[in-house]
Amino acid sequence: MSFDRELEVAIKAVRAAARVCRGVQQNPLAMESMQKQDESPVTVADFASQAIICRRLAEAFPDDPVVAEEGVAELRKAQRGGLSKAIARALSPEFGAEKPTPSDVLDWIDHGAGSGSSPRFWTLDPIDGTRGFLRDAQYAIALALIEEGFVVAAVLACPKLPVGQGGAGTGALFAARRGQGAHACALWDEDAQRGAALQVDAVGDPAAARFCESAFAGHSNQKQAAEIAARLGITRPPLRLDSQCKYAAVARGDASIYLRLPTKSRYREKIWDHAAGMMLVEEAGGRVSDTEGRALDFRCGRELDANRGIVASSGPLHERVLEALRQTRA
Ligand code: AMP
Ligand code: MG
Repeated sequence: MSFDRELEVAIKAVRAAARVCRGVQQNPLAMESMQKQDESPVTVADFASQAIICRRLAEAFPDDPVVAEEGVAELRKAQRGGLSKAIARALSPEFGAEKPTPSDVLDWIDHGAGSGSSPRFWTLDPIDGTRGFLRDAQYAIALALIEEGFVVAAVLACPKLPVGQGGAGTGALFAARRGQGAHACALWDEDAQRGAALQVDAVGDPAAARFCESAFAGHSNQKQAAEIAARLGITRPPLRLDSQCKYAAVARGDASIYLRLPTKSRYREKIWDHAAGMMLVEEAGGRVSDTEGRALDFRCGRELDANRGIVASSGPLHERVLEALRQTRA
């Protein structure tokens, strides 16, 4: 399977969602955020991005379930009626004369309520790194196709990441297919040609390595990461970024290592936070495991129930990082 059509539809959908998110960000009135039950923020743009991507996927692949981050329960509460209207408004530039209604919006978002138990399904994080989005820092839109437990195609939009490592232009789009490499191109230019294949760095000496981690300390144990870095002899300061931009940074050689070290023993990583990013790193020649060195297991439903935390790397340092991690635990 080449997944040409899947990737084409996914790229168009993610580009449309990125334009919608940018529109919301440029309108201070639409930039209100709410707290979800787990106290993480959510905005009109999170819902609008999920709505348009789910809609585009349902049109093209009506039989494919989508497992997405956001749910409609909160939105359906009467007092949130204004919110569905705001989401419909944010989406309208993408829909010509056929403007979506608040009720369409709820139905489309609800299409993302899949369980992850079908042999083939999509997983979506409509805005990964909402905290970054709210601060005008890094965020990502992450979409991946999973078949029989394996990620087979992935698209990651990073609207605030420079297109190339040289820093010319902002907004990068990454795409990958299993066994066929990962590529980047400009996000905002629909006709952008895909660039050269992404390649992880070849740094084998920790003194030259750089690691990245969450900007938000609640999502990864930064103190433990500093201990690991010290054990390995890493001297460069960590690159702190919100969202799966961290996977993109490793995939294109901006960093050699991504550490995501559990801060709460009960927390389970969500599949939409890792499927697309993992595929980029692997297709660029790198390695992704959990903190115990196990492969990520996408057969457990909405969460990576068989895994704890994440270690992604360009490869040469992977075992040494896992060893240093074990030592900081002992
Ligand atoms: P990041 O931008 O890398 O810090 O990650 C953002 C993601 O962290 C969100 O999409 C959440 O799904 C996820 N998240 C929420 N709580 C936790 C937690 N306690 N540990 C790790 N990740 C979390
Ligand atoms: Mg996320």
